[in-house]
Amino acid sequence: MAKDKKLVRSTNCNGCGICVTVCPTNTKLSKAEDFDIDHAKLAIHVSNGCAVIDYDACIACGICTKNCPVSSLAMVQI
Ligand code: SF4
Ligand code: SF4
Repeated sequence: MAKDKKLVRSTNCNGCGICVTVCPTNTKLSKAEDFDIDHAKLAIHVSNGCAVIDYDACIACGICTKNCPVSSLAMVQI
């Protein structure tokens, strides 16, 4: 899929992790038999209390933006 949008996170993020659980890329990875949360290439994960986006893995679907309780995530045109 050609990406004409990208996910951005604001400083509102409180590290709740909801985005990590609703992300379809993460869900797909977690179903793999050899899934290892410490080494999987998650599209988004929480580190040091803040969501971190992996732009190689993120497919820019925008689902996480609709589930963030503090509206920290948004899609922007690139
Ligand atoms: S971006 Fe939103 S949903 Fe994700 S960890 Fe931060 S506050 Fe939670
Ligand atoms: S935009 Fe989609 S693929 Fe990227 S982190 Fe959010 S839910 Fe996952």
